[in-house]
Amino acid sequence: MRVAGMVDEASYDHVLTSEYAVLLAEEFNCNPVVNDEAAFDLYPPPPCVGAARLPLRPPVVTIMGHVDHGKTTLLDTLRSASVAKGEAGGITQHIGAFSVPIPSSAGGNLQKITFLDTPGHAAFSAMRARGADVTDIVVLVVAADDGVRPQTKEVIQLVQRDAGVQLIVAINKIDKPGININNVHNALLVEGVQLEVMGGDVPSVEISGLTGQGLDQLMETISAVAEMQDLRADQFGQAYGRIIESNLQKGLGPVSTILVLRGSLKSGVHLIAGTAHAKVRIMTDSTGSPVRTAGPGTAVTVSGWKELPGVGDEVLEGSEQDVKKAVANRQRKAKEQAMMIDVDAINIQRRLDREQRVREEDDHREVALKAEKTQELRLVIKADVSGSVEALTSALQCIGNENARVKIIFTGVGEITESDILLAKTSGSVLIAFSVPVPRSSAVAAGAHGIPIYSSKIIYQVIEDVRQRVANLLPPIY
Ligand code: GDP
Repeated sequence: MRVAGMVDEASYDHVLTSEYAVLLAEEFNCNPVVNDEAAFDLYPPPPCVGAARLPLRPPVVTIMGHVDHGKTTLLDTLRSASVAKGEAGGITQHIGAFSVPIPSSAGGNLQKITFLDTPGHAAFSAMRARGADVTDIVVLVVAADDGVRPQTKEVIQLVQRDAGVQLIVAINKIDKPGININNVHNALLVEGVQLEVMGGDVPSVEISGLTGQGLDQLMETISAVAEMQDLRADQFGQAYGRIIESNLQKGLGPVSTILVLRGSLKSGVHLIAGTAHAKVRIMTDSTGSPVRTAGPGTAVTVSGWKELPGVGDEVLEGSEQDVKKAVANRQRKAKEQAMMIDVDAINIQRRLDREQRVREEDDHREVALKAEKTQELRLVIKADVSGSVEALTSALQCIGNENARVKIIFTGVGEITESDILLAKTSGSVLIAFSVPVPRSSAVAAGAHGIPIYSSKIIYQVIEDVRQRVANLLPPIY
């Protein structure tokens, strides 16, 4: 949209200032009346003005994984690394996030990494649901002695849906005797996570959250991934962030933890979050030390709120007058909305919610039934050259219908090895050897595990064979 006198172009979801709205109305020969006082609000600064010239900011990392796989232990060990050795007091407090310095030996340009202190995907999803996309990197903890479990799969699905988040796998509890890390690699591959060690692009680190083994490497991997993400933010402008925790504290009143995302937060400034506002009094970090300024990617507790702000709320800085006007406007809107919701409306909402729940349950049941009904022919494909791999993959992956279909678990170049056979066994796959030899030892191992190997040099024969195997999976028609 372009209006005479406007320099910038505005997209369809751009909030117009009153000046722009006036120009627009005048363009259509209308005579607008502006009531600036009543409709005043504060909005976030644009995120990427001259982004390439801005300094790097610390990445924000969330630790997720199956219950008992060691998330809390890992966070505890990392948290103790956030306190400089010998520092007076040296005790960390749970404020919702803490920052760990990156050892200078790691080389990169980043100085610290910020970890959100609440493990598990409930917290991650709750923040996402409020539009608070604060996590840059998810570290998926998988216990080496337990492998991929239901919550591991849920995290993988969450991250796969979210293009803005990078995944790092931390294979934990490697101090335990008798573990088999290859099994974990294979199980992750079956879930679609191709680790770098398997030729894919997801970094993995072997650690023990308990003994601290491998944690330096974990920090280095996080910082390398963050540098690739090129996370930059203005360090000087007005503060902008999100509330990540909020509670009442004796003697301090409402206290919140703010994760600063842009600009710098200083004591004495005026803030708004939802309908709550504050003049920042005391700021402290996760070690309880007073902080004068907090830059992007750091979390600080802030006292001085007049009421308790909500977790996930956007925090904006403004002049005292602007914050007061915005608060009055938001409170008026909230009151109007509350007045509109009378008992009838609550009942209607309840009925709608109930109907929605029933619909969702039906949908879930239908999807689950469909998934149960769909038969899969899983394939591990090895071929002589990458061109053959690509040709086979594109020809085979579209075979099937909603009742039976092909799922390609792994592709690679070279002869059939014992690890291919292990992978086929774990994933219940058929092995395809296209123009590659099957060494005797592999053939024997495949026979011992009952893994079918289909070996051919002719692509259409392979396609035909796979088509036949998929057809055999279909339920008989009487
Ligand atoms: P969470 O549920 O994922 O937060 O898991 P916890 O951190 O509570 O750990 C579950 C159990 O595994 C506890 O008994 C921990 O002591 C143990 N644990 C965690 N990390 C390790 C590790 O690296 N090695 C060993 N041997 N045990 C660990």
